[in-house]
Amino acid sequence: MIKLEQITKQFRLSNRSLTAVDAVDLEIREGEIFGIIGYSGAGKSTLIRMLNGLEKPTGGRVTVNGMEMSSISGADLRKARQKVSMIFQHFNLLWSRTVAENIAFPLEIAGVKKADREPRVRELIRLVGLEGREDAYPSELSGGQKQRVGIARALANEPDVLLCDEATSALDPETTDSILDLLTDINKRLNLTIVLITHEMHVIRKICHRVAVMEAGRVVEMGDVLQVFRSPQQPITKRFVSQVT
Ligand code: ATP
Ligand code: MG
Repeated sequence: MIKLEQITKQFRLSNRSLTAVDAVDLEIREGEIFGIIGYSGAGKSTLIRMLNGLEKPTGGRVTVNGMEMSSISGADLRKARQKVSMIFQHFNLLWSRTVAENIAFPLEIAGVKKADREPRVRELIRLVGLEGREDAYPSELSGGQKQRVGIARALANEPDVLLCDEATSALDPETTDSILDLLTDINKRLNLTIVLITHEMHVIRKICHRVAVMEAGRVVEMGDVLQVFRSPQQPITKRFVSQVT
């Protein structure tokens, strides 16, 4: 379980401070797909980056399966981060490495022996449907295929949680659907908890179990996706829901 208690992040700017995330309380259940939606600047990326320690909160506490991400650093944090991995809008692949080498990279970092890496990489390639493309370079892949590499790489060290920051925003609608289907499949098959950021309500409707709506650093509404679609409470939520109905 992921627990955020009064999580706050302030950035210091030259002449003032900016509160990107403002006293957020949230519990994300094991095995669920939890969506966070909000407009640009709402604080979504800052929030999700605090779940794996990429960003340190200036106040409050984040715990992931009992590990207090907000207080650990160094080797402990690196180890914890293997269990809370992440995929990105622009994939963040290593361009000079092949598909198989990209997927093997986190295993190398974790000290997995070469002989053990190879079958694991094969298994991951099968899981994300990239058989036959092992030796391709990222520049030779479509956007959807690049994100499949990103997903395989993120799953290499068997994380408990997968964080997705606008993972489909650079993709066309059909490719988006195929990546969302893959995430749903992985969620079921591996009982992986997924936290997904988007500004598109159809993404929330297609795969999320619960959703939080963020505005100006705060969670202004939260609930089961069906419930939120049926009776949105806040004006911002109504606007998001009207995108897709
Ligand atoms: P988008 O949908 O555009 O990705 P977001 O909801 O992810 O937006 P954040 O990136 O979390 O929003 O940013 C929230 C606020 O914090 C914004 O006002 C942003 O300018 C500010 N911010 C984010 N990172 C930093 C930083 N490193 N230094 C200063 N301000 C920052
Ligand atoms: Mg963002």
